[in-house]
Amino acid sequence: MTRPFNFSAGPAAMPLEVLQQAAAEMTDWHGSGMGVMEMSHRGKEFISIYEQAEADVRELLAVPANFKILFMQGGGLAENAIVPLNLSRGGKVDVVVTGSWSEKSYKEAAKYCTPHLAATGADTRFTTLPAAAQWQLSGDAQYVHICTNETIHGVEFHSLPDLQTLGCDAPLVIDFSSHVLSRSVDWSKVGVAFGGAQKNIGPAGVTLVIVREDLLGHALPICPSAFNYKTVADNGSMYNTPPTYSIYMAGLTFQWLKRQGGVAAMEQRNIAKAKLLYDFLDSSSFYSNQVAHDCRSRMNVPFFLADESRNDAFLAGAKAAGLLQLKGHKSVGGMRASIYNAMPIEGVEALIAYMRDFETRLA
Ligand code: PMP
Repeated sequence: MTRPFNFSAGPAAMPLEVLQQAAAEMTDWHGSGMGVMEMSHRGKEFISIYEQAEADVRELLAVPANFKILFMQGGGLAENAIVPLNLSRGGKVDVVVTGSWSEKSYKEAAKYCTPHLAATGADTRFTTLPAAAQWQLSGDAQYVHICTNETIHGVEFHSLPDLQTLGCDAPLVIDFSSHVLSRSVDWSKVGVAFGGAQKNIGPAGVTLVIVREDLLGHALPICPSAFNYKTVADNGSMYNTPPTYSIYMAGLTFQWLKRQGGVAAMEQRNIAKAKLLYDFLDSSSFYSNQVAHDCRSRMNVPFFLADESRNDAFLAGAKAAGLLQLKGHKSVGGMRASIYNAMPIEGVEALIAYMRDFETRLA
């Protein structure tokens, strides 16, 4: 079976093998007589699915034992409230704004604490990342928030800041929604990592939260119980009914990732895919990407046609060629190719072939 290549930023394409396995198991999971959606979250069948998924993601991301892995609901945007509710103690927090998603985090935090804008990339219209050495950290912040891959602007941190060497003891909070599992994470630099599932993990509905144990237990009294990291951790993510089907699909994706060679192998493929596309864009006068080379995202590649009046024709031709969902985010315009883990290099090659052909036809 072949399908079109789907460049959606999220919810995004999933590995075909995962979808086919889910389809095969839809009405009867492993001879249990039940589909996964119909199982009690407390029954032995679902518990086994849950435990396998948790163990697999711990292994894939090499998460140390002093971090809890939580499967929550609410997506990345809910975490913009859940993080300050759990970590801010109502005090000051530092936020580095590098695009739309961290900007939302900064604004949402103000409902629960006092966010301080430690740095912003707004002066370059979010085409660069402000260097960590220049961040204006407050000194008394409860945490420092960054978005490690800005899905809309296409900027990515290729290494995490070491806050300690910047004289800051606060934990680092990372929103890794749109590049989770595409590369390894240096946990020695992280306090909390969160990510919605709908790019590299599975269907929307589950949020992966990885939190260092010493950060549990400091939630504000107004924090909803279902959003209290300690309550969720103490109950193995089953304080409330977790998004069982999304967790099952995430688990299938984790198994698929392991069969691909794990995160290290995937990272090499992602480097190769991104290089192919950026090299093509840089060699062209017909197309361009405006992000500084050292912070270009391997996952989300915004690009523009020099003649924007051709945008509609470009998209229509792409769709006809089996290349779906390339329209850029409305706040940036142009095009965006999201090339997450599930996008094979053949998809990037097909996109480049189409782009060359589109240009030649107009010449
Ligand atoms: N953070 C990032 C980096 C994202 O890309 C997104 C979604 N595109 C969000 C947060 C928000 O996620 P959700 O819509 O699941 O709340």
